[in-house]
Amino acid sequence: MSVGVAPPNDAPRGCPSCRDVMRREVFDRKMGGSVALDICFACHGIWFDPYESAQLTPGAVLKLFEEIHQNRDATGRPIAETSRCPTCRHALVLTYDMERTNRITYYRCPDGHGRFTTFVQFLSEKNFVRSLSPAEVEKLKAVVKQVRCASCGAPIDLARDAQCSYCHAPIAILDADAVKRTIAELSDEERARRTVDPTVAVDALLAGQRYSRDATPSFSSSQVVDLVGEALDFLMHR
Ligand SMILES: [Zn+2]
Ligand SMILES: [Zn+2]
Ligand SMILES: [Zn+2]
Repeated sequence: MSVGVAPPNDAPRGCPSCRDVMRREVFDRKMGGSVALDICFACHGIWFDPYESAQLTPGAVLKLFEEIHQNRDATGRPIAETSRCPTCRHALVLTYDMERTNRITYYRCPDGHGRFTTFVQFLSEKNFVRSLSPAEVEKLKAVVKQVRCASCGAPIDLARDAQCSYCHAPIAILDADAVKRTIAELSDEERARRTVDPTVAVDALLAGQRYSRDATPSFSSSQVVDLVGEALDFLMHR
């Protein structure tokens, strides 16, 4: 790697999926310095150059969560069947991988320029998502009929299925312990700015409550509940 030379391509990049210009945001790098990421909020996707994801500090990961949360009101555009690398324009390859015990998916450039990862896939990659226990699924079933698959976005009918019938991913929720561990890794200064209690979030969700600024605090019977997103709401508002 050459030092002191400007990156060859510093112009804003087009989204691999929808081609709109992505927003460039700067995050702290573990070994000092910064990581500039290109994000498409319309597609709920992040472009990572090689190693960029692994270089993010815990504070940067939480900052990215906040960005994801602030922009999750809009439903993400479906990812195009053929997404293209913003550098070489080759078609990206849908890749299934493991990150510790989590199954993760992303779209990678066959020439190694990087990968396109959706917001939910990113949460999963950072081990912020865990499967519900059978007891938790039972509890949830009493208050919610359908949840959205955290892997592929398809609705899961809780009365019929204990996993996604399309991609076979288990029913997943934000992992309170993982969030707590990450907050513990933050510097004192960063921690002082955040007062979050992720445990409350998960418990409240399983009891059928949702974070809400309006007067409808519970889930409607026809709603497909996005457990990861709802938990993120609780977390970021406390
Ligand atoms: Zn896009
Ligand atoms: Zn490429
Ligand atoms: Zn699925």
